[in-house]
Order: sequence, then structure tokens, then C-alpha cells
Amino acid sequence: MQKPVLACLDLEGVLVPEIWINVALKTGIEELKVTTREMPDYDALMKRRLAILAQHNLTIADIQEVIAGMGPLAGAKEFLTWLRERCQVVILSDTFYQFALPLMRQLGFPTLFCNQLEINGNGNIAAHHMRLHNQKKHSVAAFKALNFFTMAAGDAYNDTAMLGEADAGFFFCPPEHLPKEFPQFPVTRTYAELQTRFATAGHLPG
Ligand SMILES: [Mg+2]
Repeated sequence: MQKPVLACLDLEGVLVPEIWINVALKTGIEELKVTTREMPDYDALMKRRLAILAQHNLTIADIQEVIAGMGPLAGAKEFLTWLRERCQVVILSDTFYQFALPLMRQLGFPTLFCNQLEINGNGNIAAHHMRLHNQKKHSVAAFKALNFFTMAAGDAYNDTAMLGEADAGFFFCPPEHLPKEFPQFPVTRTYAELQTRFATAGHLPG
């Protein structure tokens, strides 16, 4: 008999917009546009971002308001509902629960594995805590050990280990250079295409 299917989805770029880029756009703080492409050390990048927020006296409530206004990507909620009706779904993200909260509310609170921010009494972000190094890959490996058939979709470098670990891994709207570097992962560019890939790989009901 076929194993039960579990789909792992990246969050930013798959279901919601890139959070930091939009916070930079909506607050007008140019320095917040720096991403892991310019600063590959994620820990150092987060420390710098939090220092910039502190300089501008932005609290977690200010940032959450900005994030709430972004909304999920068009069609994301319907796609997620479609998938959750057909298999188990876990979102694996490098973001933080406090940032994701306003978007999770709009997506109907799907299961999310990510990281935590430490907020002090004034609502200022004191520090960030990464729960586990390379959690996307480790999570998929753990789900496989629990005897699930695992599928995954992501859009960026930080997803490639997860896609490689999964029984079936797919790119969703990746930047152009990425599929050239990782030709083993089929590319999807719409939710309809990703649904077809998931349905076929996981033998999901129609
Ligand atoms: Mg992403």
C-alpha cells in the first residue's frame, strides 16, 4: 500500500511575498533590501536587519502591520486549500513566527515550522533565535523516517537541500539561474502546474 503523502512548502516566494523586501519597500528603509544574495551569512544578516529596525524605533507591532498589508500571493490560499484536502501539508520556512503570524491568519493557520524572535517588554525585537540549522532538510528527512512519502516545493537556494531530500522536489517560480544549477528539480511557474506535479508524484485524488 502507498505511504501517506506529506507535502513541504517553502513560505516566501511560494505562498507569500518576500517579507523583508516588502518591509523595505513599505517602510522606505533602503538598507533592509539586503538579502542572503548579498550577505550569505544569514545570522549576520538578521543581526544587521534587527539593528536597522532598532535605529528606526520600529517595534514588532509596526512590522506586523506592514506584513499584514502584504497579503498572500494571488491564488495561494486556494492552492493551499486544494493541497490540504488531498495530503498533509507542512510549511518549512527560515522566517520567524512573529513575522509570519499576520500572513498565517490570512492563510487559515496552516502548520508552520520556523524560528522565533525575542521581543522585550517595549515590543522591540531584542534577538532572533534559529531553532535548528538546516531545518528544511532535517524536517523532510524526519518525515521520511516517519514513513511518509514526501514532496516539496521551493523557490530559492535555501530550498535546494529540502528538494533533494524529498521523494519528489519541485521548483516554484525560481530565479532563472537556479534551474541551470539544479536541473534535477522540475520547474513549475503556476499553482496549476505545481498541483499537476504534486498530484502525479503523490498519486493524489483528483
Ligand atoms: Mg522562498
